[in-house]
Amino acid sequence: MRQKNMLLPTLREAPSEAEAVSHQLLLRGGYIRQLAAGIYSYLPLGYRVLHKLEQIIRQEMSTAGFDELLMPAMQPSELWEQSGRYTEYGPELIRLEDRHDRGFVLGPTHEEIITSLVAAEVNAYRKLPLRLYQIQTKFRDERRPRFGLLRGREFLMKDAYSFDTDWQGLDEAYQSMVQAYRRIFERCGLRFKAVEAEAGSIGGEGETLEFMALADIGEDTIVTCSACDYAANLEKATFYQQEISASMDVKVPDMEEIYTPDTRTIEELSVFLNEKSQAFLKTMVYMADDQPIAVVVRGDHEVNEFKLKNALGASNVELADLQTVEKLTGAPHGFAGPAGLDIPVYLDLGAASVVDGIAGANRKDYHVRHINAGRDFQALKTGDYRNATADDCCPHCGQKLLFSRGIEVGHVFKLGTKYSKSLDAKFTNADGREELMIMGCYGIGVSRLMSAVAEQYQSETGILWPLQLSPFQVHIIPVSMKDEVQSGLANELYRELKLAGIDVILDDRDERPGVKFKDADLIGASLRIIVGKAAAEGQVEWLNRLNGSEKEQLGVEKVLELI
Ligand code: ATP
Ligand code: MG
Ligand code: MG
Ligand code: MG
Repeated sequence: MRQKNMLLPTLREAPSEAEAVSHQLLLRGGYIRQLAAGIYSYLPLGYRVLHKLEQIIRQEMSTAGFDELLMPAMQPSELWEQSGRYTEYGPELIRLEDRHDRGFVLGPTHEEIITSLVAAEVNAYRKLPLRLYQIQTKFRDERRPRFGLLRGREFLMKDAYSFDTDWQGLDEAYQSMVQAYRRIFERCGLRFKAVEAEAGSIGGEGETLEFMALADIGEDTIVTCSACDYAANLEKATFYQQEISASMDVKVPDMEEIYTPDTRTIEELSVFLNEKSQAFLKTMVYMADDQPIAVVVRGDHEVNEFKLKNALGASNVELADLQTVEKLTGAPHGFAGPAGLDIPVYLDLGAASVVDGIAGANRKDYHVRHINAGRDFQALKTGDYRNATADDCCPHCGQKLLFSRGIEVGHVFKLGTKYSKSLDAKFTNADGREELMIMGCYGIGVSRLMSAVAEQYQSETGILWPLQLSPFQVHIIPVSMKDEVQSGLANELYRELKLAGIDVILDDRDERPGVKFKDADLIGASLRIIVGKAAAEGQVEWLNRLNGSEKEQLGVEKVLELI
């Protein structure tokens, strides 16, 4: 493109209302303009990036066997009443009426529409599975639209839906989407994490993963393990804690009735226990010759059983039989106490550091040895991640947990029959009986993704797009357009690159070089050719902004070769 005739309104200063750097740079670079809160126009530059993102998404969706279609944004409210979401969705759902007072909504997502469509068109198992997607504008009256494209009220989403005859089919569709999402985000050059999540307003019965772009500005907190691949969002991570606190009301039977240990205060053992554990676990120390030989911690059955399963996943922890338990703890160990409540966890304190810890639920084959207090016992503790500290540990392996911020760029759900039930999406199986279709849905916030990449690829002077997303790969800047040699060579290069299918922009404006360079930084093309005085000798200045190298003077042929 020739810059002179483009709608490319760059700004020297960021508008004061833009908090996020990506938002500031997208405004300053002339990528987007706000029309109303959370509602944006994509100017030619922004639309180019969006197109490139869409292209990557379309390729990967097609590879995964999904077919593209396009559904309406304006949807009759009856369908939403049928699914129950007309009220459930709350004030985010934009409702309107037509001239005949018929109710409509502006689609925030398309489960209702696609399910009713497929229900009407497909009724036999032979027509399944179906895998469909669209890239389409969504409407959500967000309480707090912010950060530009990151949380808009009108935004672009890729939403995909799978319809299967059984859960195994859904699992295949889901896994293929997880793989496709990984490839999409990798191809975008995004640093991201897939984290366990909660279903939210989309609902559903099964698994769900969120894809989080790593960025400090992100509105989500993600919990990742420093050692294993455990990763969850904060809401999901606290899910374990909610399960545990639900059992905190259980009255723990009096330990002394069963054993006669010396009792240590909880405070003395707090090194092993976080606050939540102290609140509901009772801890006792077995003494021999004034030396602690074992600690018994008692709590709720399910809780510890659940934790034990996690501990078993840790390295070198193994099952211990009852004799071993008794020998190592130096204490008799029975299966006394009300069923399901008597759950000791043993930690051998025979040496200053734990030598051979034992932990167990009061059941056969539910004791393990070689427990390492630092690693496993903390792994066994309850995780209140909302108030988490640097000392908190991974529920899978016990290593340190890391807390960081993320932007939700994608979300995959196993819906099951939630929508096929309410919207009557059935098929006849091979035996001629009717069954509900098993569904999954899979979203990517395309416009949000554009901003998330910008957030990660920001620099002080503009966005340094990865080459595959850059609105232009090459920017040609003649220092003086009035100089015929310079403008001649610049035009020649422009034509040649364009013919070669390269996205190239030519700054053919009569501006001072300083202005041109500042704008070029904001526009963000990856490669730059500056045509100056040396044009007469067939030499230009070449800058590859991607590898951070300095400008160098090269012959035209060499530059074309490099591109
Ligand atoms: P959030 O938690 O950020 O509100 P969500 O969980 O409500 O998002 P989903 O219903 O999972 O969003 O929609 C699928 C995808 O659409 C999200 O993963 C996100 O990338 C994108 N998205 C959702 N809301 C917005 C928005 N207001 N602006 C831009 N993109 C959005
Ligand atoms: Mg939301
Ligand atoms: Mg969410
Ligand atoms: Mg979501």
